[in-house]
Amino acid sequence: MRSPTPRTWFWLNFKKLWTVFFVRRMWTVCTRRQAHSVSHIHGKLFESCCSAECGVAPVVDLESYASQNLPRCGCSALMRPNVCWFGEQPYELERVYPELERCTTFLAIGTSGFVQPVASFVSLLKQRQQARTIYVGLTEPANATLFDHVYLGSASALVPQVLETLRRES
Ligand SMILES: [Zn+2]
Repeated sequence: MRSPTPRTWFWLNFKKLWTVFFVRRMWTVCTRRQAHSVSHIHGKLFESCCSAECGVAPVVDLESYASQNLPRCGCSALMRPNVCWFGEQPYELERVYPELERCTTFLAIGTSGFVQPVASFVSLLKQRQQARTIYVGLTEPANATLFDHVYLGSASALVPQVLETLRRES
C-alpha cells in the first residue's frame, strides 16, 4: 500500500493533532477542508457581524466599504469584521480548552508567543507533560523555551517536513 503524503497524512490525522495556525495560507486550507473542525478563535476576516451583538448570525462579507457608507445590521447598529480585536475575549475558547486536554501533539505555526491566551496554550501542555509541542516559524517566539522542538524557517518549507516526521512516527 502506498504511503500517504505528509499533507494527506495530516488531514487523515487532523483531529489527533492540535494546531495553532497563524499562517494565513494554512488557515485558509483548513477552513476549506475542515471547516467544522477548526476553531476560529480570532474570528473570520471575511465575515461581518453586528457591533451591538443583537444575536444576528455573522454573514460572509467580501465587500470593501468607504467610511461614509459602512454597512448596518437590521437592528441599525454598525456591522464590523467578525474578528477578535485586542482586548476582546477570543472566540470558541469553550471548545479549545477541552481539545488541549486531549491533545498529544501541539503544532504552533508563526506565532509571536506574546499574545494571550494563545501564548499560554503551550505552557498548559508543558505543565501537564502530556503532549509533544512543536513550533514552526520565521522567528523564535517569546515562549520558545516551552516548546520541545523549534524549527525556524519558512512554514511552507518546514511544515511538510514536520508532518512527514510525525507521519513516520505514528
Ligand atoms: Zn444587530
